[in-house]
Amino acid sequence: NFDVLIVGGGHGGAQAAVALRQGKYEGTIAIIGDEPELPYERPPLSKDYFAREKVFERILIRPASFWTDKEVTMLLGRRVVSIDAAAHTVTTADGAEIGYGSMIWATGGSPRRLSCPGHDLAGVHVVRTRADVDRMMAELDGVSRAVVIGGGYIGLEAAAVLSKFGKQVTLLEALPRVLARVAGEELSRFYEAEHRAHGVDVRLGAMVECIEERDGAACGVRMADGEVITCEMVIVGIGIIPSVEPLITAGAAGTNGVDVDECCRTSLPDIYAIGDCAAHINAFAEGARIRLESVQNANDQATTAAKAITGTLQPYHAVPWFWSNQYDLRLQTVGLSTGYDKTVTRGDPASRSFSVIYLRNGKVIALDCVNAVKDYVQGRALVMGGVSVPEDKLTDTAVPLKDLVP
Ligand code: FAD
Repeated sequence: NFDVLIVGGGHGGAQAAVALRQGKYEGTIAIIGDEPELPYERPPLSKDYFAREKVFERILIRPASFWTDKEVTMLLGRRVVSIDAAAHTVTTADGAEIGYGSMIWATGGSPRRLSCPGHDLAGVHVVRTRADVDRMMAELDGVSRAVVIGGGYIGLEAAAVLSKFGKQVTLLEALPRVLARVAGEELSRFYEAEHRAHGVDVRLGAMVECIEERDGAACGVRMADGEVITCEMVIVGIGIIPSVEPLITAGAAGTNGVDVDECCRTSLPDIYAIGDCAAHINAFAEGARIRLESVQNANDQATTAAKAITGTLQPYHAVPWFWSNQYDLRLQTVGLSTGYDKTVTRGDPASRSFSVIYLRNGKVIALDCVNAVKDYVQGRALVMGGVSVPEDKLTDTAVPLKDLVP
């Protein structure tokens, strides 16, 4: 029995425990997580951990001693399979029943798989956990050609690492451009050109028919037009499905993840939800109910839930931000660009340092900054304030963005 039971030991779960203790919460806290590791950072899995530039110990969110010192009980390698919301108990896959006073559901999501024949062959990978990446790394030496399916951030980052390792990489995106769901066309075209310049064969509007098999393992990707792209490894990065079945079965509201209010409360008593699985009303998305898949959102919602549990109801109102590293390009984004009606470019993409600024009704709603950390830092206030700025001011790189904040 724990006063606060946190389900999911990822970014949100770890930060919830940290925030509770920072808020001087003295009750008992446990994190129950189905991965065997202590909480670790997920972004390096497609970046420096995959590139073998960082060892696992360096991506732990806190060292082991922290959790002991803060008296956070770690129940690792264990999965919650059902919830009795009235009795305030959960049941784990190994049959144990654990009681709670409050629960924070922070389970993220599981990678969406291909549905075509061959999707489960050896050599077909997803990138969500350390175990996923360790499996890929163990096979890499025997790989000379790889196909990445999905031109979102994870697919693009994986392609950049693979090409750095000297692999011949084909990237398949079903839509007419990469990053189509998260960025404007200019950024998409810039990244497509960068990957091509690094030798990645970027194919758009690409329809996969099936994964071809030889001796039980993937040996190629067959396209709808009959072409077979030969490869020894396939990496699938086509999004996640939020892990909320036990909550929904227990009666929580939600259709895409689990619905939460502005303090991260689900419709079930004393159960909060945060991070990738939490569908919340976001002020930076024109008040739409969305799920955000970012470290920022997981951490900030963790703090919101921890505060609510300790008696401070402070509505979640954090500016979204995100980053992506590919080759020597550091992309930093602030705000949400969905619903933009105009973009302006600040700086010259040919210089490989520039920003795309997204406007809606003349107001700045988001920035995508490539190797342009000043714009990223200073543009935040424009997004927070929903500031209207004449376009010629935004494009004038001689004027720092901070000077445009009223
Ligand atoms: P997670 O961190 O996914 O943690 C959820 C945990 O709960 C997992 O360990 C899961 O196994 C466990 N779990 C699930 N169900 C159960 C259950 N029933 N019982 C017990 N445990 C369970 N974001 C950025 O902002 N910037 C980036 O550059 C970036 N890069 C990324 C690269 C990769 C390869 C990936 C996979 C993600 C990246 N993200 C990035 C997204 C970011 O990592 C997530 O948004 C963040 O991890 C969400 O935190 P979370 O706590 O909601 O879920």
